[in-house]
Amino acid sequence: MAEPASPTTDWHAREPQAAFEHFRSDPAGLDAQTAQTRLEEYGRNELRPPEKQSRVQRFLLQFHNLLIYVLLAAALVTLLLQHWVDSGVILGVVLINALIGHIQEGKAEKALDAIRRMLSQQAMVKRGNAFITLPATEVVPGDIISLQSGDKVPADVRLFKVKDLRIDEAILTGESEAVEKNTGAVAETAVLGDRSCMAYSGTLVTYGHGQGLVVATGERTEIGRISGMLGQVESLTTPLLRQMAQFARWLTGAILVLATATFVYGVGFQAYSAADMFLAAVGLAVAAIPEGLPAIMTITLAIGVQRMARRNAIIRRLPAVETLGSVTVICSDKTGTLTHNEMMVQEIVCDNKRFEVSGSGYDPHGGFSLDEATVDPDAEAELRELMRAGILCNDSSLTRDEQGWHIHGDPTEGALLTLGRKGGLDPAYQHEQWPRTDVIPFESMHKFMATLHHDHAGHAFIYLKGAPERVLEMCTCQRVRGEDIPLDHDEWARRTHAMAARGQRLLALAYRGAAPEQRELRFEDVDGGLTLLGVVGLIDPPREDAIRAIRTCRSAGIRVKMITGDHAVTAKSIGEQMGIGDDIQAISGADLDQYDDAQLQRTAIEASVFARTSPEHKLRLVSTLQADGAVVAMTGDGVNDAPALKRADVGIAMGMKGTEVSKEASEMVLADDNFASIAHAVEEGRTVYDNLKKSILFILPTNGGQALAIIAAILGGYMLPITPVQILWVNMVTAVTLALALAFEPAEKDVMQRPPRDAREPLLTGFLIWRILLVSVILVSGSFGLFILERNAGVPIDTARTIAVNTLVSFEIFYLFCARYLLAPSLNWEGLTGNRYVLIAVGVLILLQLAFTYLPPMQYLFGTAPIDPGTWGRILLIALSVVVIVELEKWIIRRYLSRRQRRTPAA
Ligand code: ADP
Ligand code: MG
Repeated sequence: MAEPASPTTDWHAREPQAAFEHFRSDPAGLDAQTAQTRLEEYGRNELRPPEKQSRVQRFLLQFHNLLIYVLLAAALVTLLLQHWVDSGVILGVVLINALIGHIQEGKAEKALDAIRRMLSQQAMVKRGNAFITLPATEVVPGDIISLQSGDKVPADVRLFKVKDLRIDEAILTGESEAVEKNTGAVAETAVLGDRSCMAYSGTLVTYGHGQGLVVATGERTEIGRISGMLGQVESLTTPLLRQMAQFARWLTGAILVLATATFVYGVGFQAYSAADMFLAAVGLAVAAIPEGLPAIMTITLAIGVQRMARRNAIIRRLPAVETLGSVTVICSDKTGTLTHNEMMVQEIVCDNKRFEVSGSGYDPHGGFSLDEATVDPDAEAELRELMRAGILCNDSSLTRDEQGWHIHGDPTEGALLTLGRKGGLDPAYQHEQWPRTDVIPFESMHKFMATLHHDHAGHAFIYLKGAPERVLEMCTCQRVRGEDIPLDHDEWARRTHAMAARGQRLLALAYRGAAPEQRELRFEDVDGGLTLLGVVGLIDPPREDAIRAIRTCRSAGIRVKMITGDHAVTAKSIGEQMGIGDDIQAISGADLDQYDDAQLQRTAIEASVFARTSPEHKLRLVSTLQADGAVVAMTGDGVNDAPALKRADVGIAMGMKGTEVSKEASEMVLADDNFASIAHAVEEGRTVYDNLKKSILFILPTNGGQALAIIAAILGGYMLPITPVQILWVNMVTAVTLALALAFEPAEKDVMQRPPRDAREPLLTGFLIWRILLVSVILVSGSFGLFILERNAGVPIDTARTIAVNTLVSFEIFYLFCARYLLAPSLNWEGLTGNRYVLIAVGVLILLQLAFTYLPPMQYLFGTAPIDPGTWGRILLIALSVVVIVELEKWIIRRYLSRRQRRTPAA
């Protein structure tokens, strides 16, 4: 399926030089001016958003709903019966309903779109001969970009420099195995998957690094040309909403059957006219079908997602909102998530001495001391050599602006630059003297980084830094007073243990000579024979808010586990400072490897700190915990974390330091990399779930009460206490005012004090069903009861109906306050005034009801009549009963629950 080779698409068949010439670029990159002109010429590097349904289409879809069909049929029949007003009102209400649904859904979608945009992609682009990070949308043809393991390729590029570059092109080719890349041209007819010198936009770098020239951006990339590929817009739904929609459909079916039965019964046994009975049956259907529920639930969900985003947790996949509420274990990285990730070298052991370093943060002001006495770093040759290694075996940079000193890149490395500057070494000068020829980048898998350098006299050196256990294994010698003497492993083990016990993160630095002609660095080159320069200890202060969040999680019945690549002793010390557990036993990755399944399971459940782990251990821990029934949230940032992130119930990627690959694999991204944001997301997740329950608890009894009123009237042979158009009115005004207010309900005070929700528990628990029935019965007794009383007292039918409708609406207004809390009491200041949307909704509804009752046009449309103040008194008194009964019910349940709890003390 080779494509016709047009001059602009066959870069894979040409040498890089041809592409450089064509795009008037060179390995130094474009300058800012050219880039700007090209951006105007070629447009931004982005894909057209996937085709969405047009506004009209979405509006029309609002009518695609069983209830609406029933209503349209009813409108038709009333037309035939020449009940002009009724059919007009029905059509009007249908239209208004669709309009409101349309507007609300549009708002929810917009909110979610805005949140997705927060996850913009970055690219490393060479501009003016230096690599800088830019938003991927600003990449233009001719740009030089750098690709590293973990990146998502920002545009189509012709590679001209690679080092073990491997790319996962599944999104284009469907092949999930990553392909090896190189720079040589391939046959013109090669298919996409074989064009090994190209990297395509949207694919994922899983290993190594490389550089390439951008040959296509935006719509002109391969991914942009495969139309429809990105066409799947995530629908606004989650398993729970689907379950509810299913339930609503089922309910609708049952109601239609019931309505038909009522019709037959009324005509056959109660001698109503067929026309009247038809209207009654329609009224019943309209009353009982919870047409507003799905929309309210979607909106509740969207509001939850928005709230999470405001608290730095960006949801990538909607079902995660629900899952978050039932999380039982959070497995978190240490560095940067639980700690600030602001590293500072505090201590250096080298040349048989222990130096202490003063200063704060990345600011290179500070000095060195030995046994409390200041020392001059210039006089310490070994210390200087160690600092030079730290500067050269380093990919970060240190800059200064008005706000102070900042690092770009890995904080662990940034700290070494600050250290070097404190020792009087200038990073730029060092790099100039000892240019880098090759590198083995740092990976959590092997826990070290090595660089090969050549000076201008042709000498070659390898510098290496990494976790002490790893580095000590590679070393045979140590440098003391300018001499290489045999390494004393035991002595160093003792020294590093002492440093780690102080909570320091450790890095050992080593070097080795190399042959001048060596140009490439391989793992074999650092397998042994290195000379240890020394070990530095870095501090990384715990985040205060993370410590608080851990406490919150524990009181919420969520276990927190720290999984780190750091040293076991360091991890234990930090774990204790953070209050992750009491009397912590740090389990190392090596321990995990030796355990059998039973041991692994026990440890995974009991231990709370895991150190010296690799990404595979994360995967094993997640699977083991899940096998035990836990719902696991797991953080990750590297390429190799992707499997564990995918496996976890909620995979959480780091927005700042995380790779694109890890973000792609996750359900949620933390904008601030902070553990506290996870706890907040869980809190919001629980709140969303509560609010979904509350809307159900509020809406269903409304429908239940109305339906029961109609059935009771028909069974008893009374006139309908409330007409179909009046039911439509009630449903419409209460759904857009009262029910919607519940979507904004803030978290209940104790959300983070109760245990996690059982993920298998159905939404409609026994408690919910009971509450729905109870309130339905209260509503029907009150409104139908008052209707009958008034009728018996000789009140005309229109007035009696107006009274029944107002009773119903008043019931709902009062009940709304009860519905704000599932079990907690509502009769207090917070309960009455805590949600201003509730107050606004109630205010609006009162105005609407007054209009409904007193405005002549409304009286004409809905067949209502004015009522006097005395009657209002009776209405309110009766409506108040719902508060008394429901609050009493809550109290009884609370007492029952606390008794049961006392009998079975918490596990
Ligand atoms: P974590 O992120 O959980 O703290 P890492 O896997 O990043 O753990 O680091 C594990 C160990 O690898 C660290 O304790 C340190 O000794 C070493 N290390 C970390 N970053 C680097 C780096 N950039 N270069 C060399 N070694 C590093
Ligand atoms: Mg790390």
